[in-house]
Amino acid sequence: MNLANKIREIQDFPKEGINFKDITTLLKDKEAFKYMVDALSEQLKGLDVDIVAGPESRGFLVGAPVAYKIGAGFVPVRKPNKLPGETLRHEYELEYGMDALEIHKDAIKPGQKVAIVDDLLATGGTMLATAKLIEALGGEVVSMNFLIELVFLNGRNKLEPYNIKTLIAYD
Ligand code: IMP
Repeated sequence: MNLANKIREIQDFPKEGINFKDITTLLKDKEAFKYMVDALSEQLKGLDVDIVAGPESRGFLVGAPVAYKIGAGFVPVRKPNKLPGETLRHEYELEYGMDALEIHKDAIKPGQKVAIVDDLLATGGTMLATAKLIEALGGEVVSMNFLIELVFLNGRNKLEPYNIKTLIAYD
């Protein structure tokens, strides 16, 4: 299956100059959706994953079905002030300004093996912040999995020591 064909590109969204990869066209296609979940799940084989963590919001759409498929739990990592319980926050730099992500303090037990799954690797900032939160709770990040990698943004460099896998690469 050619998954890249199922992704729609929208020019100048959300800002001028950005060629946005719209995965909704893939998600609504039953064969493509199944193929994506199966392929990402396959990448996690043998890693003994306890928890799949997904960053808001497309990480929920991609990560939760993968967690179900591999028999792991799912933990959402969210934008500030969205999670109802006690949270841990990690702030990180964007090209212009700062952003932050939060996780429930009791979401992960020390020693649990965690795979982080998201739709797209751009600069790697979101994934690195998510990994920091998991590690702060004592979790072990055993894998980072993406549907899409924007290779030209070199996000892999930022995520150097981790085990990174992607399904579709855009050069
Ligand atoms: P990074 O932190 O720079 O790696 O950006 C990755 C985050 O931005 C992911 O959580 C993506 O959901 C989101 N993102 C950035 N560009 C796109 C895009 O073109 N399509 C969909 N999501 C994107």
